[in-house]
Parts: sequence; structure tokens; C-alpha cells
Amino acid sequence: MASDRMRIAIIGGGLAGASLANALIQLPHLDIHVYESAPEFSERGAAVGLASNTQRALQHILPSAKEILRKAGAVSLNSSRAMIGSGPEAGTIIFDIESGKDGLVVHRASLLRELLIPLPKDVLHANKKLTSIHRTDAGVEISFQDGSTEQFDGVIGADGVFGSVRKHVLKDSNEWSASPSGFWDSRNLVPFEKARDIIGKEYFEVDRQIGWLGDGAYLMHDVLENRTVVQCVMSGIDRETPKDRKHALTRENLTEELHGWLDGPIAKNMIELLLDQPNPEGYSSFEHKATSSYANGRTCIIGDAAHAMTPWQGAGAGQAIEDAVILGTVLGAISCPEEIDAAFKAFDTIRRPRCQRIIDSSRGTGEIFCGRNPDVGLDLQKLREALSVRWRFIHDIDLSAHKEEALGKLREFQEV
Ligand SMILES: Cc1cc2nc3c(=O)[nH]c(=O)nc-3n(C[C@H](O)[C@H](O)[C@H](O)COP(=O)(O)OP(=O)(O)OC[C@H]3O[C@@H](n4cnc5c(N)ncnc54)[C@H](O)[C@@H]3O)c2cc1C
Repeated sequence: MASDRMRIAIIGGGLAGASLANALIQLPHLDIHVYESAPEFSERGAAVGLASNTQRALQHILPSAKEILRKAGAVSLNSSRAMIGSGPEAGTIIFDIESGKDGLVVHRASLLRELLIPLPKDVLHANKKLTSIHRTDAGVEISFQDGSTEQFDGVIGADGVFGSVRKHVLKDSNEWSASPSGFWDSRNLVPFEKARDIIGKEYFEVDRQIGWLGDGAYLMHDVLENRTVVQCVMSGIDRETPKDRKHALTRENLTEELHGWLDGPIAKNMIELLLDQPNPEGYSSFEHKATSSYANGRTCIIGDAAHAMTPWQGAGAGQAIEDAVILGTVLGAISCPEEIDAAFKAFDTIRRPRCQRIIDSSRGTGEIFCGRNPDVGLDLQKLREALSVRWRFIHDIDLSAHKEEALGKLREFQEV
């Protein structure tokens, strides 16, 4: 029977690859394999926020999603407060969002671990770095760094922002390489007492995320891990195209970046806290500004490989999981390898406009947070109005209708 099944390779075993594998493993006509370049399937980084659309998407893939999230240790997001950090209104509250309002936060590694549990071990291949992809008469041949090759009917790149499947899908190098988004950030996990003592006791009376919006930068501190750790973040604007992804943070450059903030309640303390870190460094974020297609014949891309975005709206992982829902839907509705092109094309047609809108909205949100939107500036009322509606289109998606739309597109492309 196995030889009658369509063979699909997933390249990359991050949140996108693992979510997709869970969607596709349920389709009996597919024989799927996941290839991960790292020696083991693992996630770096601290936590990921799961908004309501992300949770619903996971539930479309796995009816047991709530239980999976519980086992992964997901908890409600802290209440969050946005405040002005620079200028004459520094210290003014822009808005408060109470905790328990739909959002969850979970450790990345724990979420990935739970997503891998339902997958049979023999479909997960670690230490397999993809090096090339060739279209053949029979399908797609993929080669790995260890010298091995495999034949598949279709290949899906979930290999992240700097992945190589994107190069195969997009021939134009201006499109395939990710470009600097114009923002950098420094994310640090600091012991609770230290953060409270340096930033100020008054900001730690309740477990809360506080984001400070101001001239040319955004500062944030968020209590995590049962009041033992505080995530302290500074985001700034790259003044020129960064030569390296990483740059050192010094007293001189931080004071210059935050010069409009120094009379306010947060900047001086945050500078001390950042300089107190073992390696004070900022990282430029990269994004895919425009992408003409997520699909090319029997190959397609999902997750950050397709639509890497800035983290301002905390939406990237959610979009990867929505991708998995839609690819699972269209691949579930085809019956032979010759229809894979149509399925990938339908996926591209449905997903790309939404993801592109979020890429642009996320960058625009960063501009507002850093006081760089010319219509909003740091005007309290305008900030309230601009920010109150920004997440709505991301969270309010009707996934059942999105799936129906994808099936409609698939039928159109099947008829051609
Ligand atoms: C600071 C920050 C905060 C964020 N916060 C949030 C948030 O709160 N909520 C949210 O929804 N999103 C958030 N995101 C976005 C989210 O983290 C990403 O969109 C998501 O993790 C992308 O998953 P992925 O699987 O597509 O890519 P990745 O996690 O990059 O996984 C790609 C995998 O492919 C493997 N790979 C690469 N090349 C090859 C190869 N040649 N062969 C085989 N394997 C390969 C890699 O080793 C890796 O395991 C945030 C992002 C950042 C940077």
C-alpha cells in the first residue's frame, strides 16, 4: 500500500514543519517525511504567544489541541499595559489589557515537544540538511549534505527565514533573500529581583507586561516563570542597512538612541539593565517584504520560509499553523501526484494575501510603537485609536470559510 501513497517531504522541523506534519499524517493517501538539519528536533528562544486565531488553527489540525497546550505548560498571557516612554507625556498609560483575554503563552521547546509526540518516529529524520532540489519527470529529487538523495511527489519547505527551498520556488534573488526590516532588538532574561530593583518596584506590583512607546524606540518588561524571571526588551530603529545581524550595545549608542527619553521614568534604568547583561547585543530583524509566489510546481514554502515577519504583532507562528491547516485541507482533497501543483497553487492563492497583509501591518505597528507613524506620532488619543483595531483582522479569521475558499480555488485549478 505504501507505494501507492503520494510521497511528501517536509523540510524543517520547527513549529511550521511539526504543525504541518500533524495535519498531513492524518491523510491516509500521503506518505510524509520530515527532514531537519539540526542533530535533533529542537526550538531555541523563550516563549511564544498564541493568540486566539493560533489556538483555533491548532484545533483544526488536532482536536486535542487544548490538551496538547496544557501538557506544554501554556498559561494565560499576563495583563499588559502600554505607556508613553518619552517626551512630555512620558509615564502616561495608553491602555491596559487584562490577563486571560484569549491569549496564551508557552515555551517554544515544550510546544514543539508536544507537537512531535503524535508523529511516528520513522517519519522524523534529524541531521538531514537539504542541499538541493531538482524537478524530475517523476516528481522531485532532493539531496542532503550527507550525500543521500530521495524521490518525492511533492516538497514543502518549512525551513525558516533563511531556508533554501525558497530559492527553488522563487527564481528572482531580490525576492528570495530576506531583507532587514529596519528594526533591531535586544531580548534579555533577567532575575526578577534584579529587574525590579533596577527598573523600579512600582512597575512590579502585579505580574504585568509593560510596553513603553516612544521616540525611535520601544522598551518592554514582562514578568515570567512565576515571578522568577523578567524578559527585558529594547527595540530600536536601524539608521542604516545593517552590515551584520548583530551589533554591540554601548552606553554611548544607547544614550544616543534614547536621547528623547532620558527625562522619563524608564530609559535611564533600562540602559543600566541592558549594560549589566553578559553580552549587551542587539539583533536586526529580517522579513520577506514581498513574495510573488509561495509555490512553484511540486514545491511550496510555508511558515517563516514563505512569510518571515517582524515580531511586533506576535503573529508569525500563528500564520505558520494557519498555513498547515490550509495545506492539509487542499492536499486532503487530491487523489494523485499530478494534482499536487493545483493544491500548492490554491494554497498560495489563499494564504499569500493574508500573510502579506500581516507582514505590512506588523512593520507598521513597529513604526507606531517607535513614534514613527507621521499621522499618529506620540499623541495619546491617536495612539489609542490606531492601536485598538490593529490586531482585529489577524484574530478574527473564520478558518472554516478560509478552508472552503481554498477548496474552491483547488477545484478551479484542477479544471484548468
Ligand atoms: C523575537 C520574536 C518573537 C516572536 N514572538 C511570536 C509570538 O509571540 N507569536 C507568534 O505567533 N510568533 C512569534 N514569532 C514568530 C515565530 O517565532 C516564527 O514565525 C515561527 O517560529 C517560525 O517557525 P518556522 O517553523 O517557520 O521556522 P523555524 O522555527 O526557523 O524552523 C525552521 C527549521 O528548519 C530547519 N532547517 C533550516 N534549513 C534547513 C535545511 N537546509 N534542511 C533541513 N532543515 C533545515 C531549521 O533547523 C529549523 O528547525 C516571534 C519571532 C521572533 C523573532
